Amino acid sequence: MEREHLIKPLIGTHYPTVSHGQGIYLFDTKGKRYLDGSSGAITVGIGHGVPEILEAMNKQAQQVSFVYRSQFTSDAAEKLAKKMSEITQGDLNWSFFVNSGTEATETAMKLAIQHYQEKGIKGKNKILSRWMSYHGITIGALSMSGHPLRRQRFVSVLEDYPSVSAPYCYRCPFDRAYPSCNLACASELEAAIERIGAEHIAAFIAEPIIGAAGGAIVPPQGYYQRIQSICKKYDILFIADEVMTGLGRTGKMFAMEHWDVQPDIVTLGKGMTSGYTPMAATVASDKVIEPILNGSKLVMSGHTFSANPLSAAVSLAVIEYVEQHGLVQAAAQKGDYLMKKLHELQSQTQLIGDVRGKGLLIGLEFVEGVKASTLIQTAMKQGLLLYPAVAGKTGKDDSACLLAPPLTITYEEMDELLLLLTEAFREIERTTYK
Ligand code: PLP
Repeated sequence: MEREHLIKPLIGTHYPTVSHGQGIYLFDTKGKRYLDGSSGAITVGIGHGVPEILEAMNKQAQQVSFVYRSQFTSDAAEKLAKKMSEITQGDLNWSFFVNSGTEATETAMKLAIQHYQEKGIKGKNKILSRWMSYHGITIGALSMSGHPLRRQRFVSVLEDYPSVSAPYCYRCPFDRAYPSCNLACASELEAAIERIGAEHIAAFIAEPIIGAAGGAIVPPQGYYQRIQSICKKYDILFIADEVMTGLGRTGKMFAMEHWDVQPDIVTLGKGMTSGYTPMAATVASDKVIEPILNGSKLVMSGHTFSANPLSAAVSLAVIEYVEQHGLVQAAAQKGDYLMKKLHELQSQTQLIGDVRGKGLLIGLEFVEGVKASTLIQTAMKQGLLLYPAVAGKTGKDDSACLLAPPLTITYEEMDELLLLLTEAFREIERTTYK
């Protein structure tokens, strides 16, 4: 055995070595085939090895792969920013490109704080967020994340941002039922703002559909409308973290469109390049940028690789591919099909407590005592990739997973996915949960 040098998620654990990817499949160096039921980390929206993307990447690489954003702009980055303003709602006209969803969160936070500073309003620098949320891994982004497991080692250095409960109807934090609950989870935001003081708060951040920290939790009707009106009432910016949900994943180009609510700032990542190269974005409205434009003009953030031309060209090609192949609508239709089949599967096993989500972002939450990791490992052995999520009353339980194949998956491939998933359930019913 050669010694290890690469720090992997679990040091000392065996991971298969990938050989190549094609469409919705990945292959390891031993020749085993995996159906990518989670698009990696809900990232590979259009599948692996798409020739149009490789061509765009090659073309840009031959022109130039890197420029320093304080010295040059590039056609690729300019075109991508224009595209972003075209595909987002309303006046979300300003894009800041970064390299990861985490950085997009950090940038959103800084933009929100700077927005008020440039208006001459001092002290509005706190960001509110929800429990059962994940916005990124750096100290700033983790401070905003209500993910107890990812926070626990760093609690002493984190800001105390998560302040309200998630809209988690399956295990309602208020033990109420919709609609008689009167959206107590949304009203909690107003109570938190009153308690903390709006004069200290720059923004509220939320994932439209909660991903890894909940397992595709979709809020009830009226929730985001209420959130938006509370934010407006107290002059607090609303940041929608669409890192996981953006670019067609939920059957709309952006998930907030399901509720017809336009945020002040949107963060994107993952599917933006379908994982071909790293790229993420913070997209802000005219309202957010105007005071900066009329003031210092300098957004105090940025990275060496920000607005990287190679990644920008890839992202543009990916978005055009999504548009040209009608993948947003396809995600909605395919999601309906998968959801129907998963409800059938739920009725055939005692292990699934809840099936939820929108489009091709689907969550399974298991009944108490059933570990998601057992299913995920069994499925992987059988050649199906799933994505883990925490859930449960405390938001810490290993009890949910995400099913989110590439938007390009065919109906035949979805049937194969369902067959593999059913086999994985049968296997754990035979061996673990008899
Ligand atoms: N926001 C959401 C909703 C996410 O799901 C993630 C990653 O899973 C992030 C932010 C952080 O993105 P990244 O891992 O690219 O830093």
